[in-house]
Amino acid sequence: RRKWMRVVGVLKELEQACQTPLSRLRQVVDAMAVEMHAGLASEGGSKLKMLLTYVDKLPNGSEKGIYYALDLGGTNFRILRVQLEGRRSSTIRHDVERMPVPQHLMTGTSKDLFDFIVASLRQFVEKEEAKDSPASTRELGFTFSFPVKQTSLNSGLLMKWTKGFSINDMVGKDVCECLQQALSRNGLDMHVAALVNDTVGTLALGHYNDEDTVAAVIIGTGTNACYFERADAIIKAQGLPTTSGGMVVNMEWGNFWSSHLPRTSYDIELDAQSPNPNDQGFEKMISGMYLGEIVRRVILRMSLESDIFGPVSPSLCEAFILRTPLMAAMHEDDSPDLNVVARALNDVLGIRDVPLKARKIVVNVCDVVSRRAARLAAAGIVGILKKIGRDGTGGIAGGRLKGGGSSSSSRSRRTVVTIEGGLYVEYRMFREYLHEAVAEILGEEFSPHVVLKVTEDGSGIGAALIAASYSSSE
Ligand code: ADP
Repeated sequence: RRKWMRVVGVLKELEQACQTPLSRLRQVVDAMAVEMHAGLASEGGSKLKMLLTYVDKLPNGSEKGIYYALDLGGTNFRILRVQLEGRRSSTIRHDVERMPVPQHLMTGTSKDLFDFIVASLRQFVEKEEAKDSPASTRELGFTFSFPVKQTSLNSGLLMKWTKGFSINDMVGKDVCECLQQALSRNGLDMHVAALVNDTVGTLALGHYNDEDTVAAVIIGTGTNACYFERADAIIKAQGLPTTSGGMVVNMEWGNFWSSHLPRTSYDIELDAQSPNPNDQGFEKMISGMYLGEIVRRVILRMSLESDIFGPVSPSLCEAFILRTPLMAAMHEDDSPDLNVVARALNDVLGIRDVPLKARKIVVNVCDVVSRRAARLAAAGIVGILKKIGRDGTGGIAGGRLKGGGSSSSSRSRRTVVTIEGGLYVEYRMFREYLHEAVAEILGEEFSPHVVLKVTEDGSGIGAALIAASYSSSE
């Protein structure tokens, strides 16, 4: 009985440490807006890198023709061919091919990697053009989801590799040039029109679908966000030539940090034992890569403190064994005796015959961890809206200053944020908590003006759209 109290104690302590009351969310909103400002003020001014993308206009539906995209961001790469009609349509005609990057090419030379990619690209182009009319000029959007310091729309230097890639001769080089050279070397007539981060692709597709879209957020294995910023607010790049007076800024928000974030001992240990301690702090509390792992750490602690989970299972001690989709399945288990939870504990964590009341505790743990994540992501989103004066508090960008408080003022203007990623799309409870928190922070009066929309495959189609929007106007 005392042992049971210990388990309940661990849960209570977790609940306490993960609390995200409205007052705290507001502090996170403010901290996000302040850090965004600092990151825009000077290079290295904040943990938020606030990277320039050189995308100064977003697709609006007028794009016409056939465009290609190449999406390289992990162990798979994808090639797309997109057909645009010159008017907005709810579905964009496109063909896709997805291929794994052979293991040995991830750590070889840039020449080998790009020759391989271009060979696949050529096959794809030939196949597509055999069944369809060829593109007049082949323009390509290149989604490259590694840290890049962009120097123009279609050039950028690779800062470092992540996600298992390690091609040393490429670090510090222009990744577009590597691709363009491989295209020429292999005689494939194609022009790399744009280098695009995946969040920027998502924003492009979101804006193509709905012109009120101002920001894009990805919440999948990792998390990131970008938004459209006024050029004069990008203080670190004075005199930036833009046609529209603004530019998309890639926040790299996974690295956001603030003392207002509700941090637990589990977060601290997870971070300390990670390959990148003190890095990606926001991401470690929010994204799909980590939520299941936080839950595992809590259950392990419960198991160490009591015997309701039996003797400590060796599997339970294994980092990252509990994946977030399984955590979600336990969380959303609506069977009366929590069969899904029982099976997950048994099959994955090696914990047998868990009594119902302990299964309920596990569901509670999943709830606390996912709710905190969703509410913090929501605060991040409102932080962006605050920065651009679209959170209803009548910020400096408010129409009132310009227009005199008419119905077109920023207070009542419709604002769309587009969201993509497996965690948000597949995990219903997470999504609901996020929506609920955004509404809570914005308040009853203003929240109807903010719309959160799902985008599908922005990282691929969005890159082609950006290529299109920059090619067709020239
Ligand atoms: P990426 O790896 O590029 O972020 P996705 O956007 O598809 O790809 O996100 C995949 C991630 O989403 C997975 O790693 C997982 O963490 C999370 N995820 C996928 N399905 C679910 C699910 N059913 N419940 C909770 N999280 C999920």
